[in-house]
Amino acid sequence: MKEFVIATGNNNKVREIERILAPLGVSLVSAAEKGIDLDSVVEDGDTFADNAYIKAKYAFDQCGCPVIADDSGLCVDALGGRPGVYSARYGGEELGYAGKISLLLGELADVPDEERTAHFSCAVCCIIDSDTRIDVEGRCEGVIAHEPSGDGGFGYDPIFSVDGRSFASLSPQEKDSISHRGNAIRMLHDKLLIMLSNQ
Ligand code: IMP
Repeated sequence: MKEFVIATGNNNKVREIERILAPLGVSLVSAAEKGIDLDSVVEDGDTFADNAYIKAKYAFDQCGCPVIADDSGLCVDALGGRPGVYSARYGGEELGYAGKISLLLGELADVPDEERTAHFSCAVCCIIDSDTRIDVEGRCEGVIAHEPSGDGGFGYDPIFSVDGRSFASLSPQEKDSISHRGNAIRMLHDKLLIMLSNQ
């Protein structure tokens, strides 16, 4: 069975990726389980795809085995696409998500409903070996609600709303079926399926 290292320290992401790749029958291990410390990786790319590659390459150089890394964030149209690649650092790395959500809702206080459009993006980079790499990017369109709702999910989920329901109100399976990460990992799944069946 082929083993992939998931190059993220975020267990929510590991679980989402595991749920979607489960049908491939591959084994997934976290970077921490492989002794890879991602804390020193500098995510200074201009795009989600650049940052996903930076993380994947770092992990691949450490372990020499197949790796999967993602980079994602929330892009708000009324803010010119912010926080975008800075989503995790919005308001400062030390500010928790309750604080980041308050800050974002404050910035959008005067923005009317029809201008509260936003999307999540997720770029995934999978390095199989030094000659084989897969890059995909998934999106999910939605709007920024006026107040948080729901008690599931993580990050900005309580204020990102699709068809009137926040991501935090959805079951994990409902979120997977429409989310940016779900869409990206399904694309990766399809490409890996072809690649693995040709080996
Ligand atoms: P990174 O991809 O770990 O660099 O961080 C992306 C940041 O974007 C996360 O820390 C979250 O704040 C936000 N984010 C990405 N995906 C999601 C999601 O599915 N729900 C809520 N917030 C997300």
